[in-house]
Amino acid sequence: MTMTGYFTHRDCWKHEMGAGHPECPERLDAIEDRLLISGLDVALDRREAPLAPLTDIELAHGRMHVASIRGLSDVLREEIEAGGPTHAQVDPDTSLNVDTWDAALRAAGAALAATDAVIAGELQNAFCAVRPPGHHACRDKAMGFCFFNNVAIAAKYALERHGLKRVAIVDFDVHHGNGTEDIVGGDQRILMVSFYQHPFYPLDHTHSNASNLVNLPVPAYTKGMDVRDLIESIWIPRLEAFRPEMIFISAGFDAHREDDMGQMGLVEQDYAWITHRIMDVARRHARGRIVSCLEGGYSLSALGRSVEAHIRVLADV
Ligand SMILES: [Zn+2]
Repeated sequence: MTMTGYFTHRDCWKHEMGAGHPECPERLDAIEDRLLISGLDVALDRREAPLAPLTDIELAHGRMHVASIRGLSDVLREEIEAGGPTHAQVDPDTSLNVDTWDAALRAAGAALAATDAVIAGELQNAFCAVRPPGHHACRDKAMGFCFFNNVAIAAKYALERHGLKRVAIVDFDVHHGNGTEDIVGGDQRILMVSFYQHPFYPLDHTHSNASNLVNLPVPAYTKGMDVRDLIESIWIPRLEAFRPEMIFISAGFDAHREDDMGQMGLVEQDYAWITHRIMDVARRHARGRIVSCLEGGYSLSALGRSVEAHIRVLADV
C-alpha cells in the first residue's frame, strides 16, 4: 500500500503574478516533470486538493484579512470586465490575478486534507505541491508571494479540530518564516524550528523571542554541512524534548546552491538528510506523521531535483 500522499490541484497553476515573476506556475511543472522522469510518481498516492473552508483558514488569520483578499479578488474581476488591469497588487512583489483566490484556498485545502488523511492513518505522510506558498503570510497581512499561511493553518487545525496536544513546524526555506512566527509565536502547543539566511528578506520584520520558536539565522554562503551541524545540535534536541505528535514542514528549496533568490549552499543530499532527521523524530514521537508543504524554490531544475530527493525519503523508495 502506498503511504505517501501527493496533494495538488490545477487551480494552483492558474495563479500567476505577471511575466517574469519567479513564483511562477512552471515551478509546479518542474516538480511534476521530475517525479515522472524518476518514476517516483507511481509510488505516491495522488490526491486532488479541496477548497479550504474559510472557518479553517480563520484558525490562523483574522476574518478581516480573509475578507480583504476575497474583496480584492471580487473587485479585480469587475475591473477586468470593465477593461482594467489584470492584477491587484498587495505588496511590491505580491499580486492577485482572477485565479489567486481559488489557488490560495486549494493550497490551504491541500494542507488540511493531507492532515486529515495522515491523522486518519490512510497515509503515513504527504507532500503538498501547491502555490501560492504561505510562510510569509501573517495573521493579518499578505506579503512575500504569500496570502494564507498553509502550514500554520494546518498546524492549528490539527490542534483545534483533531485534538492533538503538540505539533512541530520545521521551516527550511532560505527566508525567515515571519508569517508563521507571527501566527504561532507564544502558542506553546506548537514548536517552530527554522534556519534562514540573515540579514535577508523580510528585513523589516523583527524576530520574536517567544520561547516556542527556535530561529537560527545564518550568514550568506553557509553550506549544507554547517546547516546539518546546527540542526543536529540545536533543532533535534528541542524537537526530541518537545515530543511532537505530528510534524509540519515549510518545505522551501531556495537555500539550494543553484537558487539565485538566496545565497546559501545546500544541495539535494542536504534536503534528503534533513528529511531523514525529521522522519527520525516523527517515528519516535509522532507515529511518523508528517505533512510537508511547498514554500520557495525558484531555480526550476534545482527545485525539481530537490523535491524529488525530499519525497524519495518521505516515501522510502
Ligand atoms: Zn523563500
